[in-house]
Amino acid sequence: MNAGSLFADLILPLPLAGLFTYSIPWELQDEVAIGKRVVVSFGSKKIYSGIVKNIHKNSPKDYEVKDIIVCLDEFPIINSFQFLFWDWISEYYQSSLGDVYKAAVPAGLKLESQTKISYREDFVASKQLSKTEEIILDVLKKSKDVSIQTLNQASGLKNVLPQVKKLLEKNAIEIEERVISSYKEKQIKYVRLQKSITEDQIGEILNKLKRAKKQQELLFAYLNLSKQGIAETPEKVNSAQLLLSCNLSTSILKALVDKNILEIYYETADRLDFSDAEITPLKELNEHQDQAIKEIRESFKSKNTTLLHGVTSSGKTEIYIHLIQEQIKLGKQVLYLLPEIALTTQIISRLKRVFGNKVGVYHSKFNNAERVEVYNNIQQDNTDKSYQVILGVRSSIFLPFSNLGLIIIDEEHENTYKQFDPAPRYHARDAAIFLAHLHQAKTLLGTATPAIETYANCKQNKYALVELTHRFQDMKMPEIELANLKEAKRKKRMKSIFTPELFDGITQTLENKEQVILFQNRRGYAPFLECKSCGWVPHCENCSVSLTYHQYNNQLTCHYCGHSEQVPQSCKQCGSTDMVDKGFGTEKIEDELRAFFPQARIARMDLDTTRSKTAYEKLIYKFENQELDILVGTQMVSKGLDFDHVSLVGILNADSILNFPDFRAHERSYQLMAQVAGRAGRKNKQGKVIIQTHEPEHPIIQAVLRNDYLSMYQTQMTEREEFIYPPFYRLINITLKHKNNGLLTQAANTLARSLRKTFGIRIFGPQAPVINRIQNYFIVNILLKIEKKSSPARAKWILNREANNLKAIDRFKMVLVQFDVDPM
Ligand code: ADP
Ligand code: ZN
Ligand code: ZN
Repeated sequence: MNAGSLFADLILPLPLAGLFTYSIPWELQDEVAIGKRVVVSFGSKKIYSGIVKNIHKNSPKDYEVKDIIVCLDEFPIINSFQFLFWDWISEYYQSSLGDVYKAAVPAGLKLESQTKISYREDFVASKQLSKTEEIILDVLKKSKDVSIQTLNQASGLKNVLPQVKKLLEKNAIEIEERVISSYKEKQIKYVRLQKSITEDQIGEILNKLKRAKKQQELLFAYLNLSKQGIAETPEKVNSAQLLLSCNLSTSILKALVDKNILEIYYETADRLDFSDAEITPLKELNEHQDQAIKEIRESFKSKNTTLLHGVTSSGKTEIYIHLIQEQIKLGKQVLYLLPEIALTTQIISRLKRVFGNKVGVYHSKFNNAERVEVYNNIQQDNTDKSYQVILGVRSSIFLPFSNLGLIIIDEEHENTYKQFDPAPRYHARDAAIFLAHLHQAKTLLGTATPAIETYANCKQNKYALVELTHRFQDMKMPEIELANLKEAKRKKRMKSIFTPELFDGITQTLENKEQVILFQNRRGYAPFLECKSCGWVPHCENCSVSLTYHQYNNQLTCHYCGHSEQVPQSCKQCGSTDMVDKGFGTEKIEDELRAFFPQARIARMDLDTTRSKTAYEKLIYKFENQELDILVGTQMVSKGLDFDHVSLVGILNADSILNFPDFRAHERSYQLMAQVAGRAGRKNKQGKVIIQTHEPEHPIIQAVLRNDYLSMYQTQMTEREEFIYPPFYRLINITLKHKNNGLLTQAANTLARSLRKTFGIRIFGPQAPVINRIQNYFIVNILLKIEKKSSPARAKWILNREANNLKAIDRFKMVLVQFDVDPM
């Protein structure tokens, strides 16, 4: 190695701690730069794209460095804010930078061993190719997008990497990433009448199509949409919209094109479909909103984070919109976080009406190319085309912001902001507050039901608190009625799963032509099946959990690992054929409703009905337009959706939420019930909420009844302090997993013992969770509770050290050890 050699420290998408040093070959020295992606090989066969974090001249002493194979980017894709942010996430949440990289960068920009390689059509061989290079090219000429693994097999070579590298240098092949990053602007397909056709000829043509009814129909639909002959210049007709409007297939369209009646043309998509929609001015704030926004502005002078505690329908969103407008005028970026994709659907149209092209959306239902598009767009800072406002879920905190002025975190109490699996197990709200700090931006948290931690931060003056206690137009809070399940059951007055109160409520609402939302926190038909004679319950073969019965496909499904099986004809224990379903989920509610209210138009919104990308939009759109009478759903229906004609909300079983074995169960029940209740009665009418429960006197239910957040907060604070929980203590959960339960127990005991040497009574467990086996892995937890004032960094350092010590013991080598900081 000569003295001028350069080295790069890379972040590789691996769950391993630390950076990986590679040398930069002289021919790449002009290209490789901090923040760019480079391709390297790691291990024997795998290739990855790493991110360059540092460049230096220190040759590693203890191992032989490999060369960087190729540099993928013309410009860096990670900026300096992001690097600082990644470092913080990695450290705070105890996960490797590689895991952060995986979570942060859209899959389309990553390169792993599945990476696809293609032959370049424009390749001209100027130099001789080696025999093996030719073999590889032959494979690639036959099929596109071939992975390294496949190339290894198809070429009969052990390791094709050296050849792949040479071919890349010779410009004979390309890697998927190159294609995506130089990605083309999206083309939209439009339809128009053939130029030669005059308006007088149209009638004649329609006549000729008498025999081809469908073609005629499509042409009619076209004329209708384009307003041909009515409008001065016909309107643009989008091909997809045309086909949708008449419900005909492309083959019919093709027939008309073949007959030279219609023609297809393409135009580059404007980034947003709202670009030509009219931009409407901001709504004027009412006096309460005005007061609140003044207080928020004032609070930002001395505080970085402010909580807007505003009852449901108080017009928080309008306040956000005004604040966003101010940031846009300053040329700053705004990140607007929402807990749920379903919500982005409603808010995006409100934002686009005001900000048009400046708003972008980012969420997990987007495909790779779409995510890369948003990512790239934000990167081209401050052009007319770049988004200034990003509306997104959790993962959008990782976008390449360079100039944030404000982060809004709506429904800040929602636990969907916390990432459970895989690592990094970050909380998007807490991480966003740090992100704002990096940009010297402000954070506004908004909710009707603050998280206990957040409210406590306000009380301690860490965050500012702004209250909004009036609903918009002084609409009344909904009337809440409790329906006593115990009594109704005793008096035999239940109609299936409905108390008489709820049943009559639904009947009445439907008669009034108003809408109903019903909430149940379980999907599926029944949580489990049970043998009537011996009590046997079908369990998942991979997990220690009963299987949920789904009626629509007559299957039993595990909600933890996805395993499905046929419903057994008879009991596997005693052979009896008398299997009954126990409890109920959303599917059963829907079913019962159909039986009781055959005229009603009913739909269900849960994980099972919203798997496709547009499913949410469709459901919400239909419900908004009153094409549905009843919407049954899980948590999804509770989160800030805003409908105008819902006059009744029913909670089918409050007890199942209250009795969840978790220290946050009471807080969550309050939030959930208050939020679901908030869906009732918008704008013109007081709504009604009916809560079915066995325990009408339960303090949480009573607090919901009185709309009394503060009393819930105070009771919870007392309990949290007494039982050593947040916000008084910091929790770090250590999860150990292994297929062998005995070995796992030994490992957990060993780790707990060594941790007790430092942490003493702050260590709880090891304890098996309620569901102690998932996908054949047994699970056991050790919980660390540390005082708020002690250094979390030091505690984490010790945890890592002890975990590594444990893994150094040979028989515990394969035990998985995971950390969850601030578990939810
Ligand atoms: P929140 O976010 O607090 O639940 P929203 O901002 O969704 O409340 O407001 C509830 C409803 O009242 C929405 O339909 C919204 O359009 C309307 N609204 C709120 N503030 C105003 C305003 N200043 N002018 C007109 N309509 C408003
Ligand atoms: Zn049985
Ligand atoms: Zn399972």
